[in-house]
Amino acid sequence: MNKFVSNRLSKLVPYVPGEQPQDKKYIKLNTNESPFPPTPLIKDMIEGEVDDLRLYSDPESKILVSTLAKYYGLKDENVFVANGSDELLAFAFMVYCGKDKGIAFPNITYGFYEVYADLYGITPSIFPLKSDFSIDVNDYINVKKNVIIANPNAQTGLALPLSDIEKIVKSNRDYAVIIDEAYVDFGAETALPLLTKYDNLLIIRTMSKSRSLAGMRIGYALGSKALIDALQLVKYSFNSYNVDRLGNKIGALGVLDEDYFQKCTREIIRVREEAKAALRELGLTVTDSKANFFLARDNRLSGKELYTGLREKGILVRYFANSLISDYVRISIGNENQMKALVQAIKELKENK
Ligand SMILES: *Cc1c(COP(=O)(O)O)cnc(C)c1O
Repeated sequence: MNKFVSNRLSKLVPYVPGEQPQDKKYIKLNTNESPFPPTPLIKDMIEGEVDDLRLYSDPESKILVSTLAKYYGLKDENVFVANGSDELLAFAFMVYCGKDKGIAFPNITYGFYEVYADLYGITPSIFPLKSDFSIDVNDYINVKKNVIIANPNAQTGLALPLSDIEKIVKSNRDYAVIIDEAYVDFGAETALPLLTKYDNLLIIRTMSKSRSLAGMRIGYALGSKALIDALQLVKYSFNSYNVDRLGNKIGALGVLDEDYFQKCTREIIRVREEAKAALRELGLTVTDSKANFFLARDNRLSGKELYTGLREKGILVRYFANSLISDYVRISIGNENQMKALVQAIKELKENK
């Protein structure tokens, strides 16, 4: 017991981030980062910014907000930016949920959802995935709670079609339906076309994955003015300069370099499909992921054996001990050479079993 932790938070179980080892160079396929550097436009911009770092950043993040608004054909009032989408999720849970309006999400998804619910004393409604790992859309229809769904879903990489998302949004008009599109750029259907129709839909995006900017911490939300205003209420009661000077400019450049973005995401999709096929060829079960990672399971090597065996060979993947997916490892999509090394390493582990 730590006497400085309040009773209310004494049972809080925090999120466990993926390893970021500093000891040696691994082929790092454990935290869904991009294998590619961010847009080359950033390098030229940064030097001119150093002197201005003595000044606070723009609390309204105008450059970034209007760049995003323009890119998506929205108004500035429909865009909210934050210090990573994790911060945004924290704000959303804080302001939309409560004892009266709880929140529903699947049992296998982004681990932070449950942590934020605990942090704010919200009892979540957690619905199991079907045995094929897909989301049972019926669980969320008319559920009379806020809903959060990652699409594609975290850990499984499986995506719901837009028609299913619309059913959920349409049947819960008095509640926020949050679609976390952290991985949508890798091949799933976005809920963007629904934004003009439904004021209860909030789309959350991050620049950490498809825009190669995990280290910058930039996330954003798109939604109705009412939903965005609610987030502003929390932001200005918490940290009004939540995106820093470099974040605002770098984020805008990340959005503007469309060609580079398209090139990187296309390559990741291509390499993902090749890696899926190569691992299935070796006899592994691989989820049909539309994200920049997939889950993979072998029938002879346990999840833990795959994880430790690969680590010894200098390849980091994610292993979720004590979870419903402990038979699996989650593998992020690296570049072509990294994925070839991965497939070769798994082949060797299987031969030596
Ligand atoms: C990575 C991830 C996030 C967090 O993104 P940041 O912007 O880096 O905080 C949020 N949701 C899901 C589903 C993710 O996979």
